[in-house]
Amino acid sequence: MSPNSIDPAANLRAINEELNSALKEAGRKGDAVTITAVTKKQNPERILLALAAGQRVFGENRVQEAQEKWPALRGQFPDIELRLIGPLQSNKAADAVRLFDVIETVDRPKIARALAQEMEKQGRRLKLLVQVNIGEEDQKAGVAPREADAFLTLCHEQYGLTIDGLMCIPPADEGPSPYFALLAKIAARNNLAELSMGMSADYVIAAQLGASSVRIGTGIFGPRP
Ligand SMILES: *Cc1c(COP(=O)(O)O)cnc(C)c1O
Repeated sequence: MSPNSIDPAANLRAINEELNSALKEAGRKGDAVTITAVTKKQNPERILLALAAGQRVFGENRVQEAQEKWPALRGQFPDIELRLIGPLQSNKAADAVRLFDVIETVDRPKIARALAQEMEKQGRRLKLLVQVNIGEEDQKAGVAPREADAFLTLCHEQYGLTIDGLMCIPPADEGPSPYFALLAKIAARNNLAELSMGMSADYVIAAQLGASSVRIGTGIFGPRP
């Protein structure tokens, strides 16, 4: 696929159709899953094609890259929802609270505290998800599955945060189903409605296993440059 032949609008239509039939099969509502279009390293021209097709929920994994790209696009499309899906450093918490609507990567007390302070200071309330290192991999961020319940309690009791859900990235070299199921189980026992799981390679499985949002980059925009 050459970069010029990539058609984000057509890709989004196809993905929506696939999700719809997967949801139907699983007995879930047709609108149960939101597509987060992951735009890291993608240029504004391609992002504009997705916006023109009606896509409004986007994910970036770096605060600084998002700051360079999104304020201008938001000026044109005020109803955009921007989600941070990459690791957050506490010295970027103020910028992140200013720019994003959802932070999916709350994963340690220092970040929970920084976000609580910044949201208070800026009078902004973001939707927050806790990232779980679902395969307990050294190279991945997130709280360990067995520590998730305690961390959620800490966020609530120590920092007064409302956590809306969980996010995970399962190990790349294994089938994702047991990991998605484990994330859904941790969310259920903590009464959390939002489950951000599934990427270009496995969003159908994630939708069948209870995802409320799937994060899709290359499947919409083609390979990252
Ligand atoms: C890049 C990224 C994605 C999208 O991955 P694709 O395979 O391009 O769909 C999803 N989630 C996170 C956290 C990412 O960093």
